Amino acid sequence: LSNPDLVVVGSGFFGLTIAERCASELGLNVLVLERRYHLGGNAYSEIDEETGIEVHKYGTHLFHTSNKRVWDYVRRFTDFTSYQHRVFGKYQGQVYSLPMNLGLINQFFGKAHTPDEARELIAEQSSEIATADATNLEEKAISLIGRPLYEAFIKGYTAKQWQTDPTELSADIITRLPVRYTYDNRYFNDTYEGLPVDGYTAWLTRMAEHPNIEVRVDTDWFDVQDEFKGKVPVVYTGPVDEYFGNCEGRLSWRTVDLEQETVDVDDYQGTGVVNANDQDVPWTRVLEFKHLHPERTYLPGKSIVVHEYSRFAEDDDEPYYPINTAEDRAKLLKYRDLAKKEPMVLFGGRLGTYKYLDMHMAIGSALSMFDNKLKPHFSDGAPLT
Ligand code: FAD
Repeated sequence: LSNPDLVVVGSGFFGLTIAERCASELGLNVLVLERRYHLGGNAYSEIDEETGIEVHKYGTHLFHTSNKRVWDYVRRFTDFTSYQHRVFGKYQGQVYSLPMNLGLINQFFGKAHTPDEARELIAEQSSEIATADATNLEEKAISLIGRPLYEAFIKGYTAKQWQTDPTELSADIITRLPVRYTYDNRYFNDTYEGLPVDGYTAWLTRMAEHPNIEVRVDTDWFDVQDEFKGKVPVVYTGPVDEYFGNCEGRLSWRTVDLEQETVDVDDYQGTGVVNANDQDVPWTRVLEFKHLHPERTYLPGKSIVVHEYSRFAEDDDEPYYPINTAEDRAKLLKYRDLAKKEPMVLFGGRLGTYKYLDMHMAIGSALSMFDNKLKPHFSDGAPLT
Protein backbone atom coordinates (compact mmCIF):
# COMPACT_ATOMS: atom_id res chain seq x y z
CA LEU A 1 0.00 0.00 0.00
CA SER A 2 1.67 3.20 -1.05
CA ASN A 3 -1.14 5.57 -0.06
CA PRO A 4 -3.11 4.16 2.88
CA ASP A 5 -6.32 5.89 3.99
CA LEU A 6 -5.64 4.78 7.55
CA VAL A 7 -2.60 3.55 9.47
CA VAL A 8 -3.15 1.21 12.41
CA VAL A 9 -0.23 0.78 14.82
CA GLY A 10 -0.36 -2.68 16.42
CA SER A 11 -1.98 -5.86 15.10
CA GLY A 12 -3.63 -7.14 18.30
CA PHE A 13 -7.39 -7.66 18.51
CA PHE A 14 -8.01 -3.94 18.81
CA GLY A 15 -5.96 -2.97 15.76
CA LEU A 16 -7.21 -5.84 13.60
CA THR A 17 -10.86 -5.12 14.43
CA ILE A 18 -10.38 -1.50 13.34
CA ALA A 19 -8.56 -2.57 10.17
CA GLU A 20 -11.17 -5.19 9.27
CA ARG A 21 -14.16 -2.87 9.80
CA CYS A 22 -12.59 0.03 7.91
CA ALA A 23 -11.61 -2.19 4.97
CA SER A 24 -14.81 -4.27 4.79
CA GLU A 25 -17.42 -1.67 5.58
CA LEU A 26 -15.85 1.55 4.33
CA GLY A 27 -13.62 0.15 1.57
CA LEU A 28 -10.57 1.96 2.99
CA ASN A 29 -6.98 0.93 2.32
CA VAL A 30 -5.51 0.13 5.73
CA LEU A 31 -1.84 -0.28 6.58
CA VAL A 32 -1.20 -2.14 9.85
CA LEU A 33 2.25 -1.68 11.37
CA GLU A 34 3.47 -4.32 13.82
CA ARG A 35 6.83 -4.26 15.52
CA ARG A 36 6.88 -7.94 16.44
CA TYR A 37 7.70 -10.62 13.85
CA HIS A 38 4.08 -11.79 13.82
CA LEU A 39 0.57 -10.36 13.77
CA GLY A 40 -1.98 -10.87 16.53
CA GLY A 41 -0.61 -9.08 19.61
CA ASN A 42 -0.70 -11.00 22.86
CA ALA A 43 -3.32 -13.49 21.69
CA TYR A 44 -0.87 -14.94 19.14
CA SER A 45 -0.20 -18.68 19.30
CA GLU A 46 2.04 -21.15 17.46
CA ILE A 47 1.72 -24.87 16.82
CA ASP A 48 4.76 -26.66 18.24
CA GLU A 49 6.18 -28.72 15.37
CA GLU A 50 7.29 -31.70 17.40
CA THR A 51 4.18 -32.30 19.48
CA GLY A 52 1.42 -30.55 17.50
CA ILE A 53 0.42 -28.60 20.64
CA GLU A 54 -0.82 -25.02 20.24
CA VAL A 55 1.35 -22.81 22.44
CA HIS A 56 -0.07 -19.46 23.54
CA LYS A 57 3.12 -17.47 23.31
CA TYR A 58 2.08 -14.73 25.76
CA GLY A 59 0.20 -16.85 28.31
CA THR A 60 -3.04 -18.84 28.18
CA HIS A 61 -5.83 -17.01 26.38
CA LEU A 62 -9.42 -18.07 27.06
CA PHE A 63 -12.20 -16.47 25.08
CA HIS A 64 -15.41 -15.59 26.91
CA THR A 65 -18.00 -12.84 26.55
CA SER A 66 -21.58 -11.92 27.34
CA ASN A 67 -21.59 -9.27 24.62
CA LYS A 68 -23.79 -10.62 21.83
CA ARG A 69 -22.48 -8.15 19.29
CA VAL A 70 -18.88 -9.22 19.95
CA TRP A 71 -19.85 -12.91 19.85
CA ASP A 72 -21.64 -12.48 16.49
CA TYR A 73 -18.69 -10.51 15.12
CA VAL A 74 -15.93 -12.95 16.13
CA ARG A 75 -17.79 -15.93 14.69
CA ARG A 76 -17.36 -14.45 11.22
CA PHE A 77 -13.70 -15.43 11.49
CA THR A 78 -13.70 -18.62 13.52
CA ASP A 79 -15.83 -21.37 15.03
CA PHE A 80 -15.43 -22.07 18.74
CA THR A 81 -15.04 -25.32 20.64
CA SER A 82 -17.21 -25.99 23.70
CA TYR A 83 -14.22 -25.64 26.07
CA GLN A 84 -15.14 -24.32 29.52
CA HIS A 85 -12.29 -23.05 31.65
CA ARG A 86 -11.66 -24.46 35.11
CA VAL A 87 -8.73 -23.59 37.37
CA PHE A 88 -7.23 -25.56 40.21
CA GLY A 89 -4.91 -24.37 42.98
CA LYS A 90 -2.20 -26.31 44.78
CA TYR A 91 -1.67 -25.56 48.49
CA GLN A 92 0.37 -27.58 50.97
CA GLY A 93 0.30 -30.77 48.93
CA GLN A 94 -3.41 -30.69 48.09
CA VAL A 95 -5.20 -29.63 44.94
CA TYR A 96 -8.35 -27.51 45.32
CA SER A 97 -10.88 -26.43 42.74
CA LEU A 98 -11.13 -22.66 42.27
CA PRO A 99 -12.73 -20.11 42.32
CA MET A 100 -13.56 -20.50 46.01
CA ASN A 101 -16.61 -22.72 46.16
CA LEU A 102 -18.34 -25.23 48.40
CA GLY A 103 -16.05 -28.03 47.22
CA LEU A 104 -12.96 -26.05 48.21
CA ILE A 105 -14.44 -25.04 51.58
CA ASN A 106 -15.40 -28.60 52.47
CA GLN A 107 -12.03 -30.00 51.41
CA PHE A 108 -10.08 -27.26 53.19
CA PHE A 109 -12.00 -27.48 56.48
CA GLY A 110 -12.30 -31.29 56.21
CA LYS A 111 -16.06 -31.36 56.72
CA ALA A 112 -19.21 -31.56 54.62
CA HIS A 113 -20.98 -28.21 55.04
CA THR A 114 -24.35 -27.42 53.55
CA PRO A 115 -24.41 -24.11 51.65
CA ASP A 116 -25.95 -22.35 54.68
CA GLU A 117 -23.43 -23.84 57.10
CA ALA A 118 -20.56 -22.76 54.86
CA ARG A 119 -22.03 -19.26 54.55
CA GLU A 120 -22.28 -19.03 58.34
CA LEU A 121 -18.71 -20.27 58.80
CA ILE A 122 -17.25 -17.71 56.39
CA ALA A 123 -19.41 -14.92 57.86
CA GLU A 124 -18.07 -15.72 61.31
CA GLN A 125 -14.45 -15.92 60.15
CA SER A 126 -14.66 -12.69 58.20
CA SER A 127 -16.23 -10.78 61.11
CA GLU A 128 -12.70 -10.39 62.53
CA ILE A 129 -12.32 -7.12 60.57
CA ALA A 130 -15.02 -4.80 59.20
CA THR A 131 -14.50 -4.15 55.47
CA ALA A 132 -14.85 -0.38 55.97
CA ASP A 133 -11.96 -0.45 58.48
CA ALA A 134 -9.53 -2.34 56.21
CA THR A 135 -6.36 -0.33 55.64
CA ASN A 136 -4.53 -2.71 53.31
CA LEU A 137 -5.14 -5.66 50.99
CA GLU A 138 -4.62 -8.27 53.72
CA GLU A 139 -7.20 -6.71 56.03
CA LYS A 140 -9.64 -6.23 53.19
CA ALA A 141 -9.35 -9.87 52.13
CA ILE A 142 -9.78 -11.11 55.72
CA SER A 143 -12.86 -8.89 56.07
CA LEU A 144 -14.33 -10.57 52.98
CA ILE A 145 -13.46 -14.26 53.38
CA GLY A 146 -11.86 -14.71 56.81
CA ARG A 147 -8.26 -15.42 57.78
CA PRO A 148 -7.95 -19.19 57.07
CA LEU A 149 -9.03 -18.97 53.42
CA TYR A 150 -7.07 -15.73 52.96
CA GLU A 151 -3.86 -17.28 54.27
CA ALA A 152 -4.20 -20.36 52.07
CA PHE A 153 -5.50 -19.00 48.79
CA ILE A 154 -4.82 -15.27 48.60
CA LYS A 155 -1.78 -14.36 50.69
CA GLY A 156 1.02 -16.29 48.98
CA TYR A 157 -0.38 -15.94 45.47
CA THR A 158 -0.89 -12.19 45.82
CA ALA A 159 2.55 -11.66 47.36
CA LYS A 160 4.11 -13.44 44.39
CA GLN A 161 1.99 -11.60 41.83
CA TRP A 162 2.91 -8.21 43.24
CA GLN A 163 6.34 -9.00 44.75
CA THR A 164 4.99 -7.13 47.75
CA ASP A 165 3.62 -8.24 51.11
CA PRO A 166 -0.19 -7.89 51.01
CA THR A 167 -0.06 -5.71 54.17
CA GLU A 168 1.76 -3.16 52.00
CA LEU A 169 -0.69 -3.30 49.10
CA SER A 170 -3.65 -0.98 48.80
CA ALA A 171 -7.05 -2.28 49.93
CA ASP A 172 -8.45 -0.90 46.63
CA ILE A 173 -6.78 -3.65 44.59
CA ILE A 174 -9.63 -5.95 45.51
CA THR A 175 -13.26 -4.96 45.59
CA ARG A 176 -14.84 -8.38 45.98
CA LEU A 177 -13.61 -11.90 46.62
CA PRO A 178 -16.52 -13.98 45.46
CA VAL A 179 -17.19 -17.22 47.30
CA ARG A 180 -19.68 -19.59 45.69
CA TYR A 181 -21.79 -21.63 48.07
CA THR A 182 -22.34 -24.25 45.38
CA TYR A 183 -20.07 -26.77 43.68
CA ASP A 184 -20.00 -24.67 40.49
CA ASN A 185 -16.34 -24.31 39.51
CA ARG A 186 -16.67 -22.76 36.06
CA TYR A 187 -14.11 -19.99 35.99
CA PHE A 188 -16.08 -17.54 33.84
CA ASN A 189 -19.74 -16.60 34.25
CA ASP A 190 -20.16 -15.36 30.70
CA THR A 191 -22.92 -16.41 28.31
CA TYR A 192 -20.50 -17.42 25.55
CA GLU A 193 -17.23 -19.26 25.99
CA GLY A 194 -14.94 -21.42 23.87
CA LEU A 195 -11.63 -21.61 22.06
CA PRO A 196 -11.05 -21.00 18.35
CA VAL A 197 -11.34 -24.39 16.64
CA ASP A 198 -8.24 -23.98 14.50
CA GLY A 199 -6.33 -21.74 16.89
CA TYR A 200 -5.86 -18.04 17.61
CA THR A 201 -3.47 -17.33 14.77
CA ALA A 202 -5.84 -18.72 12.12
CA TRP A 203 -8.57 -16.46 13.57
CA LEU A 204 -6.34 -13.38 13.72
CA THR A 205 -4.99 -14.02 10.21
CA ARG A 206 -8.53 -14.25 8.79
CA MET A 207 -9.35 -10.86 10.29
CA ALA A 208 -6.52 -9.37 8.23
CA GLU A 209 -7.33 -11.24 5.01
CA HIS A 210 -9.23 -8.45 3.24
CA PRO A 211 -7.36 -7.38 0.07
CA ASN A 212 -7.40 -3.72 1.25
CA ILE A 213 -5.40 -4.60 4.38
CA GLU A 214 -1.62 -4.84 4.47
CA VAL A 215 0.07 -5.97 7.68
CA ARG A 216 3.74 -4.97 7.83
CA VAL A 217 5.46 -6.95 10.60
CA ASP A 218 8.91 -6.13 12.03
CA THR A 219 8.00 -2.48 11.60
CA ASP A 220 8.10 -0.08 14.52
CA TRP A 221 5.92 3.01 14.28
CA PHE A 222 8.71 5.13 15.71
CA ASP A 223 10.97 4.24 12.76
CA VAL A 224 8.43 5.23 10.12
CA GLN A 225 6.21 7.83 11.78
CA ASP A 226 7.58 10.75 9.71
CA GLU A 227 6.05 9.20 6.62
CA PHE A 228 2.53 9.26 8.09
CA LYS A 229 2.24 11.60 11.08
CA GLY A 230 -0.13 14.50 10.37
CA LYS A 231 -0.75 13.20 6.83
CA VAL A 232 -2.93 10.11 7.35
CA PRO A 233 -5.35 9.26 10.18
CA VAL A 234 -3.71 6.89 12.65
CA VAL A 235 -5.15 4.48 15.22
CA TYR A 236 -2.34 3.85 17.71
CA THR A 237 -2.56 0.79 20.00
CA GLY A 238 1.00 0.85 21.40
CA PRO A 239 1.88 2.20 24.88
CA VAL A 240 0.52 5.74 25.30
CA ASP A 241 3.52 6.92 27.36
CA GLU A 242 5.95 5.72 24.70
CA TYR A 243 4.06 7.64 22.00
CA PHE A 244 4.82 10.88 23.85
CA GLY A 245 8.46 9.97 24.55
CA ASN A 246 7.62 9.16 28.21
CA CYS A 247 7.56 12.93 28.79
CA GLU A 248 5.40 12.59 31.92
CA GLY A 249 7.32 9.53 33.16
CA ARG A 250 6.69 5.86 32.48
CA LEU A 251 3.46 4.14 33.47
CA SER A 252 4.14 1.04 35.57
CA TRP A 253 3.23 -2.48 34.49
CA ARG A 254 3.60 -6.04 35.70
CA THR A 255 5.02 -8.59 33.33
CA VAL A 256 5.22 -12.39 33.37
CA ASP A 257 8.15 -14.66 32.56
CA LEU A 258 7.06 -17.86 30.87
CA GLU A 259 9.43 -20.82 31.19
CA GLN A 260 8.43 -23.39 28.63
CA GLU A 261 9.58 -27.01 28.46
CA THR A 262 8.58 -30.15 26.59
CA VAL A 263 8.16 -32.99 29.06
CA ASP A 264 8.22 -36.73 28.36
CA VAL A 265 4.81 -37.52 29.82
CA ASP A 266 1.50 -37.70 28.08
CA ASP A 267 -0.25 -35.70 30.77
CA TYR A 268 1.65 -33.57 33.30
CA GLN A 269 -1.10 -32.17 35.53
CA GLY A 270 -4.46 -33.32 34.19
CA THR A 271 -5.77 -29.82 33.42
CA GLY A 272 -4.85 -26.56 31.66
CA VAL A 273 -4.03 -24.26 34.59
CA VAL A 274 -2.92 -25.01 38.15
CA ASN A 275 -2.20 -22.04 40.42
CA ALA A 276 0.62 -22.33 42.94
CA ASN A 277 -0.84 -20.94 46.16
CA ASP A 278 2.14 -21.72 48.41
CA GLN A 279 4.28 -18.65 48.92
CA ASP A 280 7.55 -20.62 48.87
CA VAL A 281 6.88 -22.00 45.36
CA PRO A 282 8.36 -19.31 43.12
CA TRP A 283 6.01 -19.57 40.13
CA THR A 284 2.40 -18.38 40.17
CA ARG A 285 0.86 -20.86 37.74
CA VAL A 286 1.61 -23.93 35.67
CA LEU A 287 0.04 -24.09 32.21
CA GLU A 288 -0.37 -27.24 30.15
CA PHE A 289 -1.74 -26.25 26.76
CA LYS A 290 -2.89 -29.61 25.38
CA HIS A 291 -5.80 -29.62 27.86
CA LEU A 292 -7.29 -26.56 26.16
CA HIS A 293 -7.99 -28.68 23.07
CA PRO A 294 -8.76 -32.22 24.20
CA GLU A 295 -10.45 -32.77 20.82
CA ARG A 296 -7.11 -32.62 18.96
CA THR A 297 -4.64 -35.42 18.29
CA TYR A 298 -1.12 -35.02 19.66
CA LEU A 299 2.19 -36.87 19.62
CA PRO A 300 1.75 -39.42 22.44
CA GLY A 301 4.12 -39.38 25.41
CA LYS A 302 4.88 -35.64 25.25
CA SER A 303 3.40 -32.48 26.67
CA ILE A 304 4.33 -28.79 26.83
CA VAL A 305 4.35 -27.16 30.23
CA VAL A 306 4.92 -23.52 31.14
CA HIS A 307 5.83 -22.18 34.58
CA GLU A 308 4.62 -18.59 34.89
CA TYR A 309 6.45 -16.06 37.11
CA SER A 310 5.10 -12.60 37.80
CA ARG A 311 7.19 -9.46 38.39
CA PHE A 312 7.38 -5.70 37.84
CA ALA A 313 8.18 -4.85 34.23
CA GLU A 314 11.53 -3.18 33.52
CA ASP A 315 12.05 -0.91 30.52
CA ASP A 316 12.51 -3.68 27.94
CA ASP A 317 9.91 -6.13 29.28
CA GLU A 318 6.52 -6.81 27.75
CA PRO A 319 3.95 -4.69 29.62
CA TYR A 320 1.12 -7.07 30.65
CA TYR A 321 -0.96 -5.80 33.58
CA PRO A 322 -1.26 -2.09 34.49
CA ILE A 323 -0.23 -1.52 38.13
CA ASN A 324 -2.30 1.64 38.31
CA THR A 325 -0.87 3.36 41.41
CA ALA A 326 -2.07 6.87 42.31
CA GLU A 327 1.08 8.14 40.60
CA ASP A 328 0.22 6.18 37.44
CA ARG A 329 -3.28 7.61 37.42
CA ALA A 330 -1.92 11.16 37.68
CA LYS A 331 0.45 10.53 34.76
CA LEU A 332 -2.31 8.90 32.74
CA LEU A 333 -4.50 12.01 33.04
CA LYS A 334 -1.68 14.07 31.55
CA TYR A 335 -1.16 11.58 28.73
CA ARG A 336 -4.90 11.59 28.03
CA ASP A 337 -4.80 15.38 27.64
CA LEU A 338 -1.90 15.10 25.23
CA ALA A 339 -3.68 12.31 23.34
CA LYS A 340 -6.82 14.44 22.93
CA LYS A 341 -4.75 17.20 21.37
CA GLU A 342 -2.77 14.96 19.02
CA PRO A 343 -4.11 15.72 15.54
CA MET A 344 -5.43 12.82 13.44
CA VAL A 345 -4.45 10.16 15.98
CA LEU A 346 -6.84 8.00 18.02
CA PHE A 347 -5.52 5.91 20.93
CA GLY A 348 -7.01 2.51 21.72
CA GLY A 349 -6.42 -1.00 23.04
CA ARG A 350 -4.90 -2.06 26.32
CA LEU A 351 -1.56 -0.29 25.82
CA GLY A 352 -3.00 2.84 24.26
CA THR A 353 -5.46 3.34 27.14
CA TYR A 354 -3.42 1.76 29.99
CA LYS A 355 -6.27 -0.58 30.92
CA TYR A 356 -6.38 -4.33 31.34
CA LEU A 357 -8.76 -5.47 28.60
CA ASP A 358 -9.88 -9.01 27.96
CA MET A 359 -10.03 -9.93 24.28
CA HIS A 360 -13.77 -9.41 24.04
CA MET A 361 -13.38 -5.98 25.66
CA ALA A 362 -10.63 -4.98 23.22
CA ILE A 363 -12.82 -6.08 20.30
CA GLY A 364 -15.95 -4.39 21.74
CA SER A 365 -14.09 -1.16 22.33
CA ALA A 366 -12.66 -1.21 18.79
CA LEU A 367 -16.18 -1.71 17.37
CA SER A 368 -17.31 1.35 19.36
CA MET A 369 -14.39 3.43 18.09
CA PHE A 370 -15.33 2.40 14.56
CA ASP A 371 -19.02 3.37 15.06
CA ASN A 372 -18.45 6.58 16.97
CA LYS A 373 -15.31 8.03 15.43
CA LEU A 374 -13.98 6.38 12.28
CA LYS A 375 -17.22 5.82 10.39
CA PRO A 376 -18.52 9.38 11.01
CA HIS A 377 -15.13 10.74 9.95
CA PHE A 378 -14.70 8.75 6.75
CA SER A 379 -18.39 8.72 5.72
CA ASP A 380 -19.47 12.22 6.73
CA GLY A 381 -16.26 14.18 7.20
CA ALA A 382 -16.67 14.52 10.99
CA PRO A 383 -13.45 15.68 12.69
CA LEU A 384 -11.28 12.87 14.03
CA THR A 385 -11.03 13.49 17.76
P1 FAD B 1 -2.13 -6.28 22.12
O1 FAD B 1 -2.62 -7.65 21.85
O2 FAD B 1 -1.08 -6.10 23.14
O3 FAD B 1 -1.59 -5.70 20.74
C1 FAD B 1 -0.84 -4.52 20.64
C2 FAD B 1 0.17 -4.69 19.53
O4 FAD B 1 0.79 -3.44 19.26
C3 FAD B 1 1.28 -5.66 19.89
O5 FAD B 1 1.36 -6.68 18.92
C4 FAD B 1 2.53 -4.78 19.87
O6 FAD B 1 3.68 -5.47 19.40
C5 FAD B 1 2.13 -3.68 18.92
N1 FAD B 1 2.88 -2.44 19.09
C6 FAD B 1 3.09 -1.76 20.24
N2 FAD B 1 3.86 -0.68 20.00
C7 FAD B 1 4.12 -0.67 18.67
C8 FAD B 1 4.89 0.20 17.83
N3 FAD B 1 5.55 1.25 18.31
N4 FAD B 1 4.95 -0.10 16.51
C9 FAD B 1 4.32 -1.19 16.00
N5 FAD B 1 3.60 -2.05 16.77
C10 FAD B 1 3.50 -1.78 18.08
N6 FAD B 1 -7.87 -11.89 27.42
C11 FAD B 1 -8.91 -12.74 27.45
O7 FAD B 1 -9.99 -12.41 26.96
N7 FAD B 1 -8.76 -14.01 28.00
C12 FAD B 1 -7.59 -14.42 28.55
O8 FAD B 1 -7.50 -15.54 29.02
C13 FAD B 1 -6.48 -13.53 28.53
N8 FAD B 1 -5.30 -13.89 29.06
C14 FAD B 1 -4.27 -13.01 29.07
C15 FAD B 1 -3.06 -13.39 29.64
C16 FAD B 1 -2.00 -12.50 29.68
C17 FAD B 1 -0.69 -12.91 30.30
C18 FAD B 1 -2.16 -11.20 29.14
C19 FAD B 1 -1.05 -10.20 29.21
C20 FAD B 1 -3.36 -10.82 28.56
C21 FAD B 1 -4.43 -11.72 28.52
N9 FAD B 1 -5.63 -11.37 27.92
C22 FAD B 1 -6.67 -12.24 27.94
C23 FAD B 1 -5.83 -10.03 27.32
C24 FAD B 1 -5.55 -10.00 25.82
O9 FAD B 1 -4.22 -10.33 25.57
C25 FAD B 1 -5.89 -8.58 25.35
O10 FAD B 1 -7.26 -8.36 25.43
C26 FAD B 1 -5.51 -8.28 23.96
O11 FAD B 1 -4.15 -8.52 23.81
C27 FAD B 1 -5.79 -6.82 23.69
O12 FAD B 1 -5.51 -6.53 22.39
P2 FAD B 1 -4.82 -5.16 21.99
O13 FAD B 1 -4.91 -5.10 20.52
O14 FAD B 1 -5.36 -4.03 22.76
O15 FAD B 1 -3.30 -5.30 22.50
